[in-house]
Amino acid sequence: MSERYPAFPPRNPNPPYKRIATEEAWLPTNILDLYRKEIAEKNINDAGFNALWTFFVGDSELARGHQRRIQSLGEERLSDMDASGIDMAVLSLGSPGVQLFDAATATALARDANDQMAEGIAKHPDRYVGLAAFSPLDTENGPKELERGVTKLGMRGGILNGHTLGTYLDDEKYWGLFEAAEALDVPIYLHPNTPSPQMVEPFLPRALDAAVYGFACDTGLHALRLTVAGIFDRFPKLQIILGHCGEALPYWLYRIDFMHSRIAATGRHPNVKPLKRRAWDYLIDNFYYTSSGVGWEPPIKFVIDNIGTDRMMYAMDYPWQFVKEEVGALDAMDIPDTAKKAFFEDNARKLFKING
Ligand code: MN
Repeated sequence: MSERYPAFPPRNPNPPYKRIATEEAWLPTNILDLYRKEIAEKNINDAGFNALWTFFVGDSELARGHQRRIQSLGEERLSDMDASGIDMAVLSLGSPGVQLFDAATATALARDANDQMAEGIAKHPDRYVGLAAFSPLDTENGPKELERGVTKLGMRGGILNGHTLGTYLDDEKYWGLFEAAEALDVPIYLHPNTPSPQMVEPFLPRALDAAVYGFACDTGLHALRLTVAGIFDRFPKLQIILGHCGEALPYWLYRIDFMHSRIAATGRHPNVKPLKRRAWDYLIDNFYYTSSGVGWEPPIKFVIDNIGTDRMMYAMDYPWQFVKEEVGALDAMDIPDTAKKAFFEDNARKLFKING
C-alpha cells in the first residue's frame, strides 16, 4: 500500500542550483496577538477564519510550534531552512494578514508589519527577501503602501491574502493596487484565505474549508474573477502568482478557456464581455505558479509542461506545511537540468529581482 504514496528520496546534498522557497509565511507578534484577542472576544464574523485560527492560536503542541515558527525571522526559521535544504525564502505576511481588519486599521498594521519584516530581512539579506502587505480595501493608501514597501523597504512584490472581508478585487474601484504593481514592475502573490463568508458554509461540516480544499476553491475563483473582469487588458504587464500548482487552474485550462469564450461570445451575461485575448493566454502570460504544499512531481510537471518552464517556481509553504524531507522528491523530478534550475532558482531570481 505504501508505494502508492509519494516517497521522499534523500535530497541532493550538492545540487547545481540554489533552492529559493517563494511562499513562506511570517506574522509579527502583534498581529498574532490580535487574532488571539479577536477570537477570545468572538469579534470576527468569519467562520473560515474562526475555524482555522481558533486551532492555531491554541495551546496544542502543533499550534504552539506553529506560533513560534511563523513569528521567527531568526534562528528557528534559519535552522529549519537549513534542515530542509532551502537557501532563500521569499517571505510574506501569513494569511489573512491584515485583511481581517477594516481598511484604516489594516493600513496601519500593514505599515508596521512591513517595517518589522524589512528589519528582519536586513539582518539576513542573503537568506530572505519579502513581499509587502497592504490593505486591499483602502483604495487610497493600499497602493501607496505597496509602493512604499517596494521603493523604500526593498520588497519584491505584494502579498494579497485572498478575499478581504468577503470582497474580491475584480471591482475596478480596487484596481489602483494592480496599476501600482504594474508601474513598479513587481508581481502580486494571490495567496489563499479561507473561503469567504458567502462561500464557506458547505465546507465546514467536514473541515474542508482550509488548506485541504477550500483555499484552492476561493483563490482559484478570485484569480478567475480578476481575469475575466479584464484586469490584464487594463494592465497587460501585470503578473499574479498562484501557489499550490495554480490552485488547480492549469488543469482546467482547456475548459475554462472554451466555456468563457462561449459565454463572452453569446453576450448572455451582462458582466462578461469579450476580452482582448483568451483566458488561456492570460493564464499563461500573466501568471506565475508555485509548488507550495505540493511535494509530488506530476502536477508540478503538468504546470511546467503546459504553462512553461519559465513560470513555475518552488515553494514550501512554511510553516503551514513544514516537511523538511519533501524537497528530495522535487530534486528527483524527471525534468531537464535547466528546467530544474529554473524551477528552484532562476525563475524566482528573475521575478523577484534576487541577485547574489
Ligand atoms: Mn501559504
